[in-house]
Amino acid sequence: CAVAAVIVGRRVKSRRKWKKVANVLKELEDGCDTSVGRLRQVVDAMAVEMHAGLASEGGSKLKMLLTYVDNLPNGTEKGPYYALHLGGTNFRVTRVHLSGQPSPVLEHEVERQPIPPHLMTSTSEDLFDFIASSLKEFIANEGDGSNTSQDRRELGFTFSFPVKQMSVSSGILIKWTKGFSIVDMVGKDVAACLQEAFARKGLDVHVAALVNDTVGTLAVGHYHDPDTVAAIVIGTGTNACYLERIDAIIKCQGLLTTSGRMVVNMEWGNFWSSHLPRTVYDIELDAESPNPNDQGFEKMISGMYLGDIVRRVILRMSLESEMFGPISSKLSTPFVLRTPLMAAMHEDDSPDLIEVAKILNDTFEILDLPLKARKTVVKVCDVVTRRAARLAAAGIVGILKKIGRDGSGGITGGRSRSDIKMKRTVVAIEGGLYSSYTLFREYLHEALNEILGEDIAKHVTLNVTEDGSGIGAALLAASYS
Ligand code: BGC
Repeated sequence: CAVAAVIVGRRVKSRRKWKKVANVLKELEDGCDTSVGRLRQVVDAMAVEMHAGLASEGGSKLKMLLTYVDNLPNGTEKGPYYALHLGGTNFRVTRVHLSGQPSPVLEHEVERQPIPPHLMTSTSEDLFDFIASSLKEFIANEGDGSNTSQDRRELGFTFSFPVKQMSVSSGILIKWTKGFSIVDMVGKDVAACLQEAFARKGLDVHVAALVNDTVGTLAVGHYHDPDTVAAIVIGTGTNACYLERIDAIIKCQGLLTTSGRMVVNMEWGNFWSSHLPRTVYDIELDAESPNPNDQGFEKMISGMYLGDIVRRVILRMSLESEMFGPISSKLSTPFVLRTPLMAAMHEDDSPDLIEVAKILNDTFEILDLPLKARKTVVKVCDVVTRRAARLAAAGIVGILKKIGRDGSGGITGGRSRSDIKMKRTVVAIEGGLYSSYTLFREYLHEALNEILGEDIAKHVTLNVTEDGSGIGAALLAASYS
């Protein structure tokens, strides 16, 4: 009888522990609500903020930055061109060979290397000397005489941070994002800093274009498919750009371009709306980040942050219940759970979630977690990723709405949505979350269909561009040099 009482007591205790974990999960699910109704509110808010950001400087948290890119490459460009890409976890050097005729495949070479972490918070001179040295080495290794006919090389610099451009080839850094913080760089002309570093290293290379990664992605997307009207990056950070009519950019009246259009860099990572589903984990992450009250949308969507949201939820679960074993100090270390690891746990399809156990062990030193707890971790990853992907989809539809490609324009006059003549609309997309994280991609597509309805959504194509941001910068260097 006494034994039976002990067993019953244990069961009750265990149930209570689970109840606490289940409550944390339920609270998370409720807090991350992305019902289609809410997503539509986000779509509207995005379109409204775009208008406000175009109307006046500082009119919105969306900066809606001019890029001075008014013509996108069309394939007539010829010769070797170079690109450097700084912005996420890796740094890339690219050389593109342009034949002078549009070609389905752009012949190019890329070299990637991780950015030494100390350079992300060092001085501008240290960072740019590193970049210039990498290019110098790349050129020294060319060995095929690919540029013997011309001494000066033309280069596009993809700099994936908010920049106020003065021209296609110059612009000052407004602020850092994604963990970079080189104080002396803010307010400086990024292209001039790079040009000076080239001079210090004795390199005869001219910075012909300074572009955001989204703009490079749009350039290469448009090169391959002229129906491309916007580009999205969802990697370490997130952002979007699109082709806007020049007369819609009210804050710059009198601006003239030959095409009557200009690419606008939205800097949508800084978008904010009270309709965004925000949890206590987002609030804490923001408060403890190097840039509080900044990049709110990015902190819910992009690769730099998703793993850390999951870490915060697991920490809370282990504080509330002994189900996760003794609390590991590693659980309190910001950013230890990188998003690729979170994706690997989310997509672990082994029956007993062996990969999840391994990652939790390696990352947090959590040992022998029961299967039920491992399943809960997978569910947490799912909730966080699903919200991110669905919000990104709402952002995309916000852009389509602004440019009249969401199918809503013709609903008046008694026509049904299916009667509306939708133009084929292509959005170029780049970044590891979309290209390498299957569930993220599936959730994003699902949400696009839900928001737009299948009749409209079938006219919208998302095209992945690989290394587009770098290749696009080289293309733009060719167009504007
Ligand atoms: C930056 C953008 C960039 C995006 C994607 C954001 O943090 O502010 O300029 O396009 O990351 O790399």
